[in-house]
Amino acid sequence: MQVDAPNLRGWASDGSFGTKATRQGLTGTRNWLFVKVHTDEGIVGIGECSGWPRVIQTAVQDLKSILIGEDPTHIERLWQKMMCAIMGHGMVGTVGGGAMTGIDMALWDIKGKALNTPVWNLLGGKIRDRIRIYAHANTAEVALSLKKRGITAIKCGGVSDPVRKVAMLRDAIGDEMDLMIDLHGPPWLTPADAAQVARALEPYRLMFVEDPIAPENLDGFRRIRDSANVTLAAGERMATVYGLRELIEKDLVDIVQPDTGRAGGITQMKKIAAQAEAHHIMMAPHSGSLGPVAEYAALHVLAAIPNGLILERIEDDWVGRAQTVVPHPLQENGFLKVPDGPGLGVDIDEAFVKQHPSECNVSIPGAAKSGAYAEGTYDEQVYVQTRLKRGVYFPKG
Ligand SMILES: [Mg+2]
Repeated sequence: MQVDAPNLRGWASDGSFGTKATRQGLTGTRNWLFVKVHTDEGIVGIGECSGWPRVIQTAVQDLKSILIGEDPTHIERLWQKMMCAIMGHGMVGTVGGGAMTGIDMALWDIKGKALNTPVWNLLGGKIRDRIRIYAHANTAEVALSLKKRGITAIKCGGVSDPVRKVAMLRDAIGDEMDLMIDLHGPPWLTPADAAQVARALEPYRLMFVEDPIAPENLDGFRRIRDSANVTLAAGERMATVYGLRELIEKDLVDIVQPDTGRAGGITQMKKIAAQAEAHHIMMAPHSGSLGPVAEYAALHVLAAIPNGLILERIEDDWVGRAQTVVPHPLQENGFLKVPDGPGLGVDIDEAFVKQHPSECNVSIPGAAKSGAYAEGTYDEQVYVQTRLKRGVYFPKG
């Protein structure tokens, strides 16, 4: 077994690559990192890592040394080996989780290809043939165009005027479509403000309120939970069964959202789903910053777990998304078909990806679009911030 994840800029000869997912008006804020694992029998597995791809690329290179020569079908053994190797760097985190994820995903792909069966079959078989997806919409116009295309659920985002935005969208789409909001920062809401927002959102019958506060403040989740009658979701910035354990065991959320590119791989996604299942918590994998290979992995996981709820999907984040993989997933009436090919059932168009090398991977979220970051002023973005102009921010019911 061999693992390839060379420098993105020096891509070509040895098999791994990244692509700049250029969002409209924002360059360099999204990168996708794909990993290829080669076996001596000629089977090649592919995977995807998220969590700071250009850093993870180096981590994958480091892990290579402990994987070469191993039997790729012993996935759990290799996962444990990687975990032990990363532990010395201050535990796993989402960057280490991302590195393990890409490799783990590729190992599942190899195993499926070797046995000529889809990954969902290796996970215990299929519960469903298609997976419901939700799209992103922040304006009535976008929401209605998605509705026209058969999308059945939408999510709006950000902490700018969330209550009025949700009210406007609910009014526009009516009651048949599901609606949700992601309150992620920066700047993140304080627990007190998040509780107030959550209460104000109660009348709009949301499928979930996502990340109402920053992820490290688990006690804050308890405060929101005790204050408002809304369905809470979180978990995209946590990795492995250990990282998500408290969120689930303390019943702090109703929906857990591990990221298929950095939660620790298919091996961990299946276990996290089982942890959640025991608490009657649903799973809706985070997919907002992921490329199309991780999306395939999420489809296999959601096909096989009983508590799979819905999958996030941003199909227009980069114009080349559909060309990056073959075949492109089939979307119909708000659902994606579960793939039937061996392994993950997808391949990468390497020639196409090669034309789009990674260039940059840090940004201040929202700054380019909203102009929220103005140094030295009250608009300067800090990590957590009390909401000002409170009479405007918290509209009366
Ligand atoms: Mg989110």
